[in-house]
Amino acid sequence: MRLLACTIGLTLMGSVAHAATQYNGDKVQGVPVITALDVSDLAAGKHRFMFEGVETGTGQRWYVPIMVARGASAGKKVLLQAGVHGDELNGVRIVQKALDQLDPATMRGTVIGVIGPNRSGLERVSRTWAMATDGGDSVDYNRVHPGKEHGNAPERQAWLMWNKVYRNNVDVAIDYHTQSTGTAYPLFIYADYRQPEVQTLAELFPADQIKKDPGEAGSVETTFVSQGIPAITAEVGEPRVYQQDMIDRGLQGALNVLIHYKVIDGQLGATAQSHASWIGNEISSIRATTGGFAEILVRVGDTVKQGQRVALQRNAFGDVVAHYTADRSGKVLAVGTDVVREPRALLVRILAKNPADRCRNGC
Ligand SMILES: [Zn+2]
Repeated sequence: MRLLACTIGLTLMGSVAHAATQYNGDKVQGVPVITALDVSDLAAGKHRFMFEGVETGTGQRWYVPIMVARGASAGKKVLLQAGVHGDELNGVRIVQKALDQLDPATMRGTVIGVIGPNRSGLERVSRTWAMATDGGDSVDYNRVHPGKEHGNAPERQAWLMWNKVYRNNVDVAIDYHTQSTGTAYPLFIYADYRQPEVQTLAELFPADQIKKDPGEAGSVETTFVSQGIPAITAEVGEPRVYQQDMIDRGLQGALNVLIHYKVIDGQLGATAQSHASWIGNEISSIRATTGGFAEILVRVGDTVKQGQRVALQRNAFGDVVAHYTADRSGKVLAVGTDVVREPRALLVRILAKNPADRCRNGC
């Protein structure tokens, strides 16, 4: 009876969900190319695809590698994604490791791993998507979601990802980032604490710091949250490198999420509570007011007091041209690691706990 009910259920679901995984017959490096993903029509097991993304200027295509681990029984569909910014790489290894260690035979639900939807940025090890139109322009791919069908290349790529990959395939999303080139974060999470399930998601990570955050328009995270799908941005340390501790903890967070949603069995590892994460609600970015060689006087994770000296800049002759102090007390969330700092470049970012009621869920 249970089997019969299950079959009827699937049939009904199939009749309302018109999407299906679309294969165009191509293979890239031996991997089948798809133009649309529908995990509900995949057999239990592990699958690899190349998703045919946006057209290049010569009419070729960007292909996005996608891994799917489809469990033998039904459950939550969890997206693990890295490479929305192309110089933020710790998450690439986290997604690969998570997918590698899953066993579909014992899983309930589906895990989707996406590597580098910002194909242009990843190939150039750059935050931005580089367009050739009008002599070249740089677009922040994490500000154009959910994209436009007939927009520019990064907007159209985002539209394809939302309409052909994420739609109906994602119940929970973790978008892995790091700080930008020339700067450093600890393991840090942006989470919209107005959504209780997002708070739960964030605190399943053994993060160093968490920001209660109302979101960033056009980001992957905020677009999912606005559609009622819990999502976080996990900032996993520094750009351009693999950091083993960050990868281990970023992976632990993902596994905790899968355990929480019963996709896999197991006991929760370290979480925000056991790691004593610093959970703040207000960020202050101390930026260069002039150009010059920067000396950062604090380290990521340091506790700072308002008025404390945190950075200075010198000219080429070694004269100090600017001093910077903390504008509030809190923890150092990020520092500039590039010595050469133009005006407006980040020197120190502080995560504070603002007691004002308007900041309860982030300001
Ligand atoms: Zn990023």
